[in-house]
Amino acid sequence: MLNILQTAFGGWQQSSVSVSLKDALGRVLSEDIIAQENVPAFRRSTVDGYALIAQNTIGCSESLPAFLSLIGETEMGKGTDLALNDYETVYVPTGGIVPEGANGVVMIEYTEPMGDEIAVNSPVSNLQNIVGIGDDVKENEIILSKNTVLKSQHIGALAALGVSEVKVLTKIKVGILSTGDELVAVDTPLKLGQIRDVNTHSLAAMIKSFGCEVVYQNRVGDLFDDIQKALKKAISLSDVVLISGGSSVGTHDMTPDIINSLGKPGVLVHGIAIKPGKPTIVAKVDHTAVFGLPGHPASCIVSYKTVVEPFIQKTLMNSKNKTKRVLAKSGFQAHVSAGRDVFYMVTLEESENGYIANPVHGKSGMISVLSKADGYIEIPMEKEGLQKEDQVFVTFI
Ligand code: AMP
Ligand code: MG
Repeated sequence: MLNILQTAFGGWQQSSVSVSLKDALGRVLSEDIIAQENVPAFRRSTVDGYALIAQNTIGCSESLPAFLSLIGETEMGKGTDLALNDYETVYVPTGGIVPEGANGVVMIEYTEPMGDEIAVNSPVSNLQNIVGIGDDVKENEIILSKNTVLKSQHIGALAALGVSEVKVLTKIKVGILSTGDELVAVDTPLKLGQIRDVNTHSLAAMIKSFGCEVVYQNRVGDLFDDIQKALKKAISLSDVVLISGGSSVGTHDMTPDIINSLGKPGVLVHGIAIKPGKPTIVAKVDHTAVFGLPGHPASCIVSYKTVVEPFIQKTLMNSKNKTKRVLAKSGFQAHVSAGRDVFYMVTLEESENGYIANPVHGKSGMISVLSKADGYIEIPMEKEGLQKEDQVFVTFI
């Protein structure tokens, strides 16, 4: 599946934009970040204690302390002119500068003040409790590489390096179109036979939480002309269009024809062997990827998660983000017919032996199944079925 998309959309170029550090969370770096300075820029102590010359403490102990004369202290956030000679020491707070000449810091707990002298009760090894210049990050080192999805820890690293603006990919623009004569808006009272439009909202939520932008959102009935008009507009505005409903074989099965009427190359794949999720349409209209997703809310999510999200992530954003999933043991047995990849919505239970994946009972498409699930497991088509205790990956939804 992804291979067909990779061929159709290979070489996709997403434009870049500069954003300030406070707006960078979740964005995809479009440049390598190279450290312009050493971190730390000076030798820092990792403890509250006394900077000293390690050799002066060889063999010392509580019964035979090493006596060093205190020549001063360094203050937080300030430089120092102090420099140590043999058997001298300087008080240094955690994070403070270790003065010239010192090559170790003894923790205050292992010392005792004695007039102008400090008694050291425990030997210090070379460079003990000191972070050297550039030990954390070296100048000119690539600290974050292109296509990294920026997480909070990355934001912290950028702040430490004095980077206040970064170049990131512009957000992928996504259009969402729900089709079906039976669908009504969330805030409309239901008449008999009508249902509320779920997919527009679940898709928009997933799109946003994946760092993309929803640029078009609409709901239309099962009329060829209406769908065609709305889809044309969606395609003109978006990099990716998701159209849900109307994809099953039946009287209203016109989505492929509508897609093909709007541009080349049109439908690339119709129907993918996944359950729930089948049928799914994959198409390209001019420069836009168009996915026809099934109407059933659960199937719609599975199709989106298994087809659309990996496509956006790997092919369009080339991102290094890992799919969020955990290893679990199956808490149930399932028989499946071969020839299709099957997806089960599951909940995760923590146990002493790791996670257990339990099935969420209910028919495909049920809202209750969706909202109870933590994620899904996949039974690949080569596998006959699933045994209790089998190892499975649970992908979070
Ligand atoms: P379809 O793919 O149009 O054949 O729809 C399959 C099932 O999903 C039908 O029961 C539809 O009513 C339902 N459905 C389609 N679109 C939506 C939607 N946006 N929200 C909730 N249910 C939907
Ligand atoms: Mg329909």
